Amino acid sequence: MEKNYPLNRLNTWKIGGLAEAVYWPQSMADLSTVWQRAQAAKTPVWLIGRGSNLLLPDEGLPGITLVTTSLRAIEWGEYSVQVEAGYTLARLSQEAGERGWSGLEFARGIPGSVGGAVMMNAGAHGGEMASQIISVTTLWADGTVKKLERADLEFAYRFCSLRGNAWVVEAQIGFSPGDREQILRLMKENISTRALNQPLEKPNAGSIFRNPPGDSAGRLIESAGWKGKKIGGAQVSEKHANFIVNTGDAKTMDVLALIEAISRDVQSKFGIKLQTEVAYFGEARGARYEARIEGEQSSQNT
Ligand SMILES: Cc1cc2nc3c(=O)[nH]c(=O)nc-3n(C[C@H](O)[C@H](O)[C@H](O)COP(=O)(O)OP(=O)(O)OC[C@H]3O[C@@H](n4cnc5c(N)ncnc54)[C@H](O)[C@@H]3O)c2cc1C
Repeated sequence: MEKNYPLNRLNTWKIGGLAEAVYWPQSMADLSTVWQRAQAAKTPVWLIGRGSNLLLPDEGLPGITLVTTSLRAIEWGEYSVQVEAGYTLARLSQEAGERGWSGLEFARGIPGSVGGAVMMNAGAHGGEMASQIISVTTLWADGTVKKLERADLEFAYRFCSLRGNAWVVEAQIGFSPGDREQILRLMKENISTRALNQPLEKPNAGSIFRNPPGDSAGRLIESAGWKGKKIGGAQVSEKHANFIVNTGDAKTMDVLALIEAISRDVQSKFGIKLQTEVAYFGEARGARYEARIEGEQSSQNT
């Protein structure tokens, strides 16, 4: 357990104040025990994977912040894998590709954890997690651990029905036989496309807004004239308008102000209300954002 730990080390935006306490559970049982103790003591608990889709507050986080990155056990089966929540999705995708297993080609450039990817139903290049999931082992608010089959879960664009209700501790992911060279080539192409189109050289958290039906958030934001615009240390990327980069000293409030200003402007210019994809922990501008597992629906919209 680390006390007063800088949150900027726990997210790809490299933003955030101090966490009161950070703990990296070493096993599913460890995670469950810490969770139950915190519940009993009424201590707030926050869960972070690789922090690649997450904005953390300038004022820090009270209670315990749990980081899943040590939950990395993996067991390869016959065209399937049982893998703990903290395993890196991109690594899993590469390792499956090396075996000639097809299914996670889309995920090679997504910098999240397996648990975060299930929860966000991460997707790209026409693929998404929901299509590959066989089952998910979950931890619920009352401490129970349940294995849920794919049919028990609902997924939609960047949505999983577990959100705000339970944590993902492990997932079983399925593949189909494929051509190793073709899979690896496709992954390489996907990565090159990203390097061309995304501002990977600066700290960011992927897409800020979900694409509205039939349109692209990036196109709308660019058309509204936001490319390159800055508030404090947060800047709308020159490369991709749906990315906000940290130019060095960005604060959470800068990012939130930029998100709010873009939303308002896009709505007034195009009549479209953009919804955020990035998760936010904390309180801002009168709204409370929920990312814990106390049965409340999470609200990610700024
Ligand atoms: C450069 C870049 C490119 C990206 N490209 C894509 C892309 O192409 N497609 C895409 O979908 N996303 C993309 N992302 C966003 C991000 O990588 C994914 O959403 C990823 O799945 C988030 O996983 P994470 O472990 O980083 O989650 P975090 O950012 O740590 O957490 C995000 C949310 O998930 C919750 N969470 C994390 N782990 C768990 C768990 N085990 N159980 C329950 N809840 C959990 C957190 O509490 C939080 O609410 C990109 C991000 C970056 C920085």
